[in-house]
Amino acid sequence: MKTPAGFECSYFYGDYYRGRKREECRLIGNAPPPHHWTADLCKTCPVPAIQRANACPYMVLDAKVSRGFLGLNRKVVISAYCNKTFQIVTEPQVGCGQCHPLPPPFIESKHP
Ligand code: SF4
Repeated sequence: MKTPAGFECSYFYGDYYRGRKREECRLIGNAPPPHHWTADLCKTCPVPAIQRANACPYMVLDAKVSRGFLGLNRKVVISAYCNKTFQIVTEPQVGCGQCHPLPPPFIESKHP
């Protein structure tokens, strides 16, 4: 479903039937304030871009809302975990590299 920011996100749910306006993020869920979800977070959330780049069925995302100084600049912070290799995925857009290894020209050589 498209988020209020206009990006496709599988975790967004909106119910607009007959004038209703119920929106929720099913990844952040019902986190208590001040780490609760609000629709403006979708504007800068990295999840839609991650989902466009990597559709690995083994990768599980977790999201938290972090706040900056004085509670300003709230943003979504993502962590990812691979249920196949049982490891943290440091770059969710790329994946852990187990299912889809990068071709040799993209792997940095340790020997000059
Ligand atoms: S905050 Fe992120 S994960 Fe949640 S609905 Fe918006 S774009 Fe999707």
